[in-house]
Amino acid sequence: MDIYDVIVVGAGPAGILAAGSAAKLGAKVLILEKMSSVGRKLLITGKGRCNVTNGASASDFLSHVYPDSRFLRPALSEFNSNDIIQLLDNHGVQVVEGPNNRYFPASDKAADVLKALLNWVNNFPIDLKVNSRVTKIVVEDGTVKGAEFNGQVFPTNAVIIATGGKSYPATGSTGDGYELARQLGHSIVKPIPALVPLETKGSVVRQLQGLNLTDIKAIAWVNNRKVWETRGEMIFTHFGLSGPAILTLSRFVVNPLQNGDLVKITIDFFPDSDDQSLDKKLQNDINTHGRKKIINMLHLWLPASLVPVFMAKLELDDTKEAHQITGKERKNIVGLLKSFPLEISHNRSFKDAIITAGGVSTKEINQKTMESKLVRGLFFAGEIIDIDADTGGYNLQIAYSTGWLAGLKAAKARISE
Ligand SMILES: Cc1cc2nc3c(=O)[nH]c(=O)nc-3n(C[C@H](O)[C@H](O)[C@H](O)COP(=O)(O)OP(=O)(O)OC[C@H]3O[C@@H](n4cnc5c(N)ncnc54)[C@H](O)[C@@H]3O)c2cc1C
Repeated sequence: MDIYDVIVVGAGPAGILAAGSAAKLGAKVLILEKMSSVGRKLLITGKGRCNVTNGASASDFLSHVYPDSRFLRPALSEFNSNDIIQLLDNHGVQVVEGPNNRYFPASDKAADVLKALLNWVNNFPIDLKVNSRVTKIVVEDGTVKGAEFNGQVFPTNAVIIATGGKSYPATGSTGDGYELARQLGHSIVKPIPALVPLETKGSVVRQLQGLNLTDIKAIAWVNNRKVWETRGEMIFTHFGLSGPAILTLSRFVVNPLQNGDLVKITIDFFPDSDDQSLDKKLQNDINTHGRKKIINMLHLWLPASLVPVFMAKLELDDTKEAHQITGKERKNIVGLLKSFPLEISHNRSFKDAIITAGGVSTKEINQKTMESKLVRGLFFAGEIIDIDADTGGYNLQIAYSTGWLAGLKAAKARISE
């Protein structure tokens, strides 16, 4: 049987980049993918549109990465957003810049991104086997010797585990890599759903279902202590809250929720105004529209579905006119506009999580090579590593950068042996 220089386990974006960068150096590469086709998760990214990468400067980029962004620095300097944009451009996909440094394929089709990546790897004589679920990495004397599936061992000098996390398991990412790594002595930081929608207590969200707010500030509180804030878009759903701002906050509340802590999110509907200026504007409106019913005046301030919610929460009398609003009621209105509270009961499961936080501990991976510090010839790439990021194209870039670096180093080390 052929001995491969490098075997890549998993053909998501991290595995594809790893295979390509290793083969580019002349390594003999085999990719083993457990599904019947490659890159399934990539196809559903960005709702099928794929936010390919984020073009922020390295320091800005790293400020969106958790829990230890320094780990990513060498991989990001080896292969950054310009590199993936160039690679895609060279293989038939032009990308265009959207808001906040986000890049998308000009065609708005994730399938074109996958096609371009496959066009690139098809330049090299890489072997690909689908329907091939790896169940064991064979190690002797602390050195990788092979990868096993279906009871068959494929001999190799290096294995790159790029099996992803546990989110959206229907795409093939079911957390297999954690077990493979654990068998070899690696510590796994508990995987938790991240960038995940949140369920709320009470019935308010049902009244607000479908309401999309494009620019709010959302603040997460754990046991009444502020833990994170973010600004952006959110949506009310039938079960609770979703949308980019909420997904970003979710990373900071999943563990507390699982520990039984009290978790709240407050929404600031007017993030550019302080209480005083809002109060002044409200007074002006009351003066101008004094004869309107309070409920009708609130329509000048809020989307229609929020108005009855405000009326009920503030116990405002719907027979009263705006000029009858008391000073205390005005203060309460401003308070609710700036800090609309929602108690969170649960996070949604891995099934609905965009990514997995946690994974193979970065303490046991050499950040300059992606090689295991415990097993020679074992490398990690992509979401399986305990590194995750906000929405905005960062997570795919993490997969490309770590994949590229792992492939490069696995090939260099093994070919020169
Ligand atoms: C709905 C959704 C939308 C997203 N949108 C974006 C976006 O727009 N921009 C962005 O940056 N990120 C986005 N992400 C996140 C991004 O898709 C992931 O971070 C990225 O796919 C991780 O790449 P990966 O190669 O590490 O893992 P994956 O893409 O999960 O690939 C892992 C591969 O390994 C295979 N595998 C698993 N176990 C085995 C085994 N034992 N043997 C062989 N093969 C195995 C799997 O079948 C899979 O093909 C989105 C995620 C989701 C779920």
